[in-house]
Amino acid sequence: MERIPTFRKGGVHPNDKKVLSNGMAIERLPVPAELIVPLSQHLGAPATPLKQKGDTVVAGEKIGQASSFISADIHSPVHGTIADIKKVTLANSVVTEAFVIVPNAENPLGNWPEQPYDSLSAQEMLAIIKDMGVVGTGGATFPTHVKLAVPKGKSVEALVVNGVECEPYLTADHRLMLEQTDLVLRGIMIVAKITQPKRIIIGVENNKKDAIETLRQVIASNSYPITVTPLKVKYPQGDEKQLLKATINREIPSGKLPLDVGAVVLNIGTSFAIYEAVALRKPLVERVVTVSGEAMSTKRNLRVLLGSKVADLIAFAGGVSHEPDKYISGGPMMGFAFHDDQIPVIKGTSGILALDNEPAMKAPQTPCISCGRCVAACPMGLQPTKLFRLIDNRMYAEAMGMNLMDCKECGCCSYSCPAHLPLVHGMKLGKRLGRK
Ligand code: SF4
Ligand code: SF4
Repeated sequence: MERIPTFRKGGVHPNDKKVLSNGMAIERLPVPAELIVPLSQHLGAPATPLKQKGDTVVAGEKIGQASSFISADIHSPVHGTIADIKKVTLANSVVTEAFVIVPNAENPLGNWPEQPYDSLSAQEMLAIIKDMGVVGTGGATFPTHVKLAVPKGKSVEALVVNGVECEPYLTADHRLMLEQTDLVLRGIMIVAKITQPKRIIIGVENNKKDAIETLRQVIASNSYPITVTPLKVKYPQGDEKQLLKATINREIPSGKLPLDVGAVVLNIGTSFAIYEAVALRKPLVERVVTVSGEAMSTKRNLRVLLGSKVADLIAFAGGVSHEPDKYISGGPMMGFAFHDDQIPVIKGTSGILALDNEPAMKAPQTPCISCGRCVAACPMGLQPTKLFRLIDNRMYAEAMGMNLMDCKECGCCSYSCPAHLPLVHGMKLGKRLGRK
């Protein structure tokens, strides 16, 4: 019998609620009347605007230039006109300039047929990925060309692809693995040409058995040198640290990166974006977003132009059946609550959720009972209860001394706490104030 691994330290098992949307095939959201395309859709410095109000743009045209080493280009998702440039606040509270683009009434979409790419060198492929503005689509939005540029003297032992999608409700990567299997695998093989790993592994949680089977079939029929590793279902297995422990049994030391242990990690949506960038020369101008939650009238997986407003996605799903307790951009564990449905979908938006709180979560906060559950749940081996107390008492330096910066903000501590203390919010605050 196949051994099903996972990471060892901490983690939790929230109800994954994936059944709400994992049977919904990807549909295209119609082109909205207006797109809001921010200059900051990635980790690092915002892009510099290349267009002005009144300019016309074509689909795929570069409209924002990466402004530093950690930054990414921004492209127009449609043929259209820049109606305005204005400040917007994104779901993650980032305030940034954004283009307001009105798509052409007729034929607003670009056309990107496949081009030959096998003869491109690794450096040429990397340059195309940079030019096409590809960033990690799992939520971290780290510029992909930086991640894949393996420094001289380092080698890649394993390319590990994250097919885990461990956040509850989200099924966008699951649908991509099922519906675009070969294109996702071709994206992975492009990354393999760039990074030259000794082995390639796709880690997929065992609640996606159909994806595991489909991947294995397409891998076998194309003789790709890729292994699919089923993983036990456990949150936060999609984090790089937990994924590498589960798949290749490597520990990333505190303050180090996957490359320091010979690994490159990328996710399924990013692999698909890399295929489109290199084979179609298509910039990252659209992505798959799960629209779900108890209060959403219908659950969907939508292919969405970047800059579409959240209100457009919710309207396409038929609106909400009742007022939810909260709206979340991303997953419920690490996503961002939002109150304004005019915010845009950006490169890292994996889900739009309308959620009802679990009955247990509606209970009031009570004092810590020193049960230790948060400590047992922390996948980083931290002491959330002690850290929370230090941060509450503004003892940030002391919290830093207890490795607060290792906190991944995964929310396992808050999820486990019977006193309903806002532990992860405390960690976020402590990290922000402790850095000053
Ligand atoms: S949010 Fe931070 S402290 Fe809490 S469990 Fe996750 S890593 Fe540990
Ligand atoms: S889980 Fe909550 S109640 Fe238990 S030790 Fe941690 S903070 Fe205290």
